[in-house]
Amino acid sequence: MPELPEVETVKRGLAPTFEGSEIVKVDQNRPDLRFPFPADFRERLRGRQVTALSRRSKYLLADIDTGDVLVMHLGMSGSFRIENDTLQAMPGKFTHERGKDPKHDHVVFHLRTADNAGARIIYNDPRRFGFMDLIARPQLAGHPFFKDLGIEPLGNDLSGETLARLFAGRKTPLKSALLNQKLIAGLGNIYVCEALWRTGLSPVRAAGTLAAKSGRPTDKAELLAASIRATLEEAIAAGGSTLRDHTKADGSLGYFQHSFAVYDREGQACRTPGCKGTVSRLVQTGRSTFHCPSCQR
Ligand SMILES: [Zn+2]
Repeated sequence: MPELPEVETVKRGLAPTFEGSEIVKVDQNRPDLRFPFPADFRERLRGRQVTALSRRSKYLLADIDTGDVLVMHLGMSGSFRIENDTLQAMPGKFTHERGKDPKHDHVVFHLRTADNAGARIIYNDPRRFGFMDLIARPQLAGHPFFKDLGIEPLGNDLSGETLARLFAGRKTPLKSALLNQKLIAGLGNIYVCEALWRTGLSPVRAAGTLAAKSGRPTDKAELLAASIRATLEEAIAAGGSTLRDHTKADGSLGYFQHSFAVYDREGQACRTPGCKGTVSRLVQTGRSTFHCPSCQR
């Protein structure tokens, strides 16, 4: 499953081509992916303009000038390619290699871009856990995909104050609270481990300890909010830098897995300056947690 920074790099890679373009035609090569396409999928997009491309959690959202939003989810193995007469690019950077076999090209958007050039955006998905839907903009926030989603970890909503408010009184382990999608949307296992390590916070301490008795955020809550943002933004910047290097954008090396400070480093020395601890692994709600018991309290 792509993590949030990966989806964000895809969005940033697609935006220059998609935004402002006219969808001349849509090829839809199957009736369904993980879910069926809307029955009138092609007709509702043909001849329409894409006014904006954004992201909410791990959903890509293309606003259409009819008031529809084209909702796209990459599932486990989905990717997009951009093709025109001179370029083939796969925006985004993935830990796991992405498929290119044309037999898994399920949707092709034929575009007339904002600068009046022809281009194609092609959705490829070998395992077909991804999906696309069309939802009217006013219905989006109340739609089952979105209605229970918590705050965006990359948006302005995330702060020490927000964490204190969301977590006050909670006895659940801090790591579980951070992974609760109803509180914070799209923050995955890897980046929670990394952000907790940076902040020196134990994954097993009670989430409520980030709020003082008064309800105000503790210093660590402020630090954690900053660490979450920094961890995600560094990953996006690293992924984004590969967008310009199209020959390596197939994900074969996977930048993200080389950049972890604590994730997947069980038994290795902690990288916190001055710490002599060793990274250890424990399982919380079925997921591996990597942490340093010496400097994460
Ligand atoms: Zn340590």
